[in-house]
Amino acid sequence: MDWEVIINAYPEDAAGIEKARQIYSAVVEAVQKLEVPGIDCTLPVENIATLIPSAELADICKGVWKEVLGKDPDVDIEQALGAFVSGGSIPEPEQGAEDLLPMFLRPVVSSYLRRVREKNKELVSSPQGQGKCPFCGMYPRLCFDSESSRDLHCLMCGQEWRFQRVKCPFCGNSDHTTLGYFEVESVEGIRVYFCSECKHYIKIIDTKTRLAHDAETEDILSLALDVAAQEEGYL
Ligand SMILES: [Zn+2]
Ligand SMILES: [Zn+2]
Repeated sequence: MDWEVIINAYPEDAAGIEKARQIYSAVVEAVQKLEVPGIDCTLPVENIATLIPSAELADICKGVWKEVLGKDPDVDIEQALGAFVSGGSIPEPEQGAEDLLPMFLRPVVSSYLRRVREKNKELVSSPQGQGKCPFCGMYPRLCFDSESSRDLHCLMCGQEWRFQRVKCPFCGNSDHTTLGYFEVESVEGIRVYFCSECKHYIKIIDTKTRLAHDAETEDILSLALDVAAQEEGYL
């Protein structure tokens, strides 16, 4: 995560971004100290919640919450973690703190899953051609386009895999008349690629026209594209 680039892009939110940076660093550092298991299931994982040690990760979040915010969290972090990995609705902390939970949940889950994936690399046999992440089964939110390939990226576990250019990762549609893209003036070098069949979209970072940052940074730099895509009715 390139925090300087993010602060430069959203200078009006510098204080909030600085807080997110503090939380992110403390959470990731604590996750590095955990034992990571070898796994023996078929991939992609049917339910990534089974890979997550909720109590341990919740303890990390609670500790960092207290360290950075100076108080105990007012929500059940373990329950929030469960909701986050299963796509359920996350409980809301007190008013004015709605943006806080994702600042903890995202880095704690993704840095843990990254470590599990790195430890179990040999399980991802032929990571090509599928829409879902070959490791954790999540759908990608963005991909990197180069001269020779399109690589999907999973923000949940950090896996990257090759994919066809004219194809929707969500429904497999490869009819070019129902696939399209658009750009937003304020965001350079990234496009929204959408499928009119299933109404999903993905963000494409064009590495031919500019130097790309890491995927997490690119995801944050292109929030305006998510807003535009969702306004158009894409999921
Ligand atoms: Zn994944
Ligand atoms: Zn589709």
